[in-house]
Amino acid sequence: MRDQAGPRVLLRRLRELMAEPLEPQERLDRIVREIAANMVAEVCSLYVLRADSVLELYATEGLNPGSVHHAQLRLGQGLVGTIAASARPLNLSDAQRHPAFAYLPETGEEIYHSFLGVPVLRAGRTLGVLVVQNRTMRTYREDEVEAMETTAMVIAEMIATGDLARLTRPGLELDLRRPVSFSGMSFNEGVGLGHVVLHEPRIVVTDLFNEDSEQELRRLASALGSLRLSIDDMLSRRDVAFEGEHRAVLEAYRMFANDRGWVRRLEEAVSNGLTAEAAVEKVQSDMRARMLHMTDPYMRERMSDFDDLANRLLRQLMGRGPEALASTLPKDAIVVARSMGAAELLDYPRDRLRGLVLEDGAVTSHVVIVARAMGIPVAGQMKGAVSMAENGDAIIVDGEEGRIHLRPQPDVEAAYAEKVRFRARRQELYRELRSKPSRTADGTDVDLLMNAGLAVDLPQLAESGAAGIGLFRTELQFMVAATFPRAEAQERLYRDVMDAARGKPVTFRTIDIGGDKVLPYFKNTSNEENPALGWRAIRLTLDRPALLRTQIRALLKAAGGRELRVMLPMITEIGEIFRAREIIDREVRHLARFAHDLPTSLRIGAMIEVPALLWQLDELMRSVDFVSVGSNDLFQFVMAADRGNTLLADRFDPLSVPFLRVLKQIVDAGRTSGTPVTLCGELAGRPISAMALIGLGYRSISMSPASIGPVKAMLTELPLEKLEAFLADALSRPGAGRDMRAELSAFAEENGVPL
Ligand code: PEP
Ligand code: MG
Repeated sequence: MRDQAGPRVLLRRLRELMAEPLEPQERLDRIVREIAANMVAEVCSLYVLRADSVLELYATEGLNPGSVHHAQLRLGQGLVGTIAASARPLNLSDAQRHPAFAYLPETGEEIYHSFLGVPVLRAGRTLGVLVVQNRTMRTYREDEVEAMETTAMVIAEMIATGDLARLTRPGLELDLRRPVSFSGMSFNEGVGLGHVVLHEPRIVVTDLFNEDSEQELRRLASALGSLRLSIDDMLSRRDVAFEGEHRAVLEAYRMFANDRGWVRRLEEAVSNGLTAEAAVEKVQSDMRARMLHMTDPYMRERMSDFDDLANRLLRQLMGRGPEALASTLPKDAIVVARSMGAAELLDYPRDRLRGLVLEDGAVTSHVVIVARAMGIPVAGQMKGAVSMAENGDAIIVDGEEGRIHLRPQPDVEAAYAEKVRFRARRQELYRELRSKPSRTADGTDVDLLMNAGLAVDLPQLAESGAAGIGLFRTELQFMVAATFPRAEAQERLYRDVMDAARGKPVTFRTIDIGGDKVLPYFKNTSNEENPALGWRAIRLTLDRPALLRTQIRALLKAAGGRELRVMLPMITEIGEIFRAREIIDREVRHLARFAHDLPTSLRIGAMIEVPALLWQLDELMRSVDFVSVGSNDLFQFVMAADRGNTLLADRFDPLSVPFLRVLKQIVDAGRTSGTPVTLCGELAGRPISAMALIGLGYRSISMSPASIGPVKAMLTELPLEKLEAFLADALSRPGAGRDMRAELSAFAEENGVPL
């Protein structure tokens, strides 16, 4: 008897129906009829969730046919609305006694007692509800619930592939195509319009039904076996630093992969007639939907581990390696990822990337650092974006506001397209400025340099028209790597940088790790309470001289036959410069002994980031060939205000009288001693603050390459002598209660300086 009916037969019939050339409505009608017959139910109905959060009856066997496309329930209303909202099935022998029961007179359903409804789910989202009803009071068996869920999955595919779109009426589109916006955080400025590329593409399972369950169960078992082996293998690898979080995640994977409940649900789905792939998708989707309602953050976190695991299993089953990227990528790709490693982003061809969306991450995540270097807008903390997005959906990343708009309405898209055009026009203006001298309106030259740190930054040197690299943050190579970069890799990067600079000056800063710049493979075991004030930068490298020696040697070798500029970060005492110099001198002697080609000149500079240097400026200037103000750190230490603390982000202003006086003191000391002074913190990159710096006497500033255009546009209109007089006067007067930012912007306004 079970052979005549039962889930297997139903799935076979559904497969036949899907293959027939039917109109969508006809197909739905036949599907519900088939389900009703198979389940020996008098009623089978399908409700589909619309974008306005209403569930509309799309097909029925047994209820009044006239109510199709008329009967509707709000999300959360009645039994059907409850199932959709909770993403859980309801199995009731007497539906009318359920507190949520809502009677829809147009359907004529009052005579039915038993009720089984399951959500139609895809990737954890509810797309509709599938219901069977009987007159008698019966309880549906577990395997019947299972069969309904499997059938619902087939319907989910129909909805997701757009099969039902032709049945919608204008203004009443399906939920799947609904425009959604997310607010999170801005990780990198810029606006990108394009199409979604899911970083870990949801593998589309097209083959839903198996021919032979026994054989399919064996395939599943074998894939599960390989999955477990690959996890064990990763856990036992010693070459990669799988410590801390990495290890914890993998251990969780191993636990899940051996979870009896998970494996049993997969086997059940296969026994019911699904392919192993479809079974993985079904179980994953059910689980996601249920977990979404959990409030325990730990469990919700674990869900993404489970997702990853299911994706791995799917890949095992389908014999797929990582997707071949370039061939399938749209020209305006916006990559949407839960999280991502920095190296993975570099796998995408830069010329097709328009933006990056991350569900997790922080401004300091490595992938974000790389994205910033690549100049693509990044929006982060976009919880839920991955499950709402489908490959190919239109999407806008607003890196300025920290928002994304998925499937945007035409007016939103038009507004953003205008914004992008505006930005492009400005870029065009900046490009024109590139060949013009970087000189004030009254004829003073100012060097505009760029900050860099990775090979991907190098093309920007020509594109931005920078006069050189004022700060090369060598620690970035260390931060995006899985282990300490070997000496050869360091040397290669430094050589590439100098080659790309074609004789323009490059200032390499020795590694500035510690503080917020952590290397996963290099743990500071002392658990510092104030890492920004802790064991970092020069303090760390002087204590671990092998690190510094290796880097200096790589720099010296790479600079053979040309000038080398080395800058020391976080100098506090002059003695640190002497100690670093000793190490450098020893390396020079070592290379000379082995007849290596040495740099034609070697200049050693110090960063001014620690306020203690302000009271030893003369001595400092005499001890180095140049200095560079790290205004990010100097400001945080002068103001005692953590640079990463959002609560303090707008509280103190670097353009305030006291900090401007500090900056002036430094540039004056440089002038007196004849030591070149640069400034390379974020302050240099905003036109208004760059204007102030130039007015104080700075003739060399280094910034992100994207800032060079706007700063140059300001510079070429700047009446410097007037500004100098204005600032000298402003800083000689008491600062209390004054708003220097407003005064500077009024000056710019009066003098036609574009900020
Ligand atoms: C600074 O502190 O201003 C600086 C340029 O260094 P970093 O931002 O890398 O700390
Ligand atoms: Mg710094």
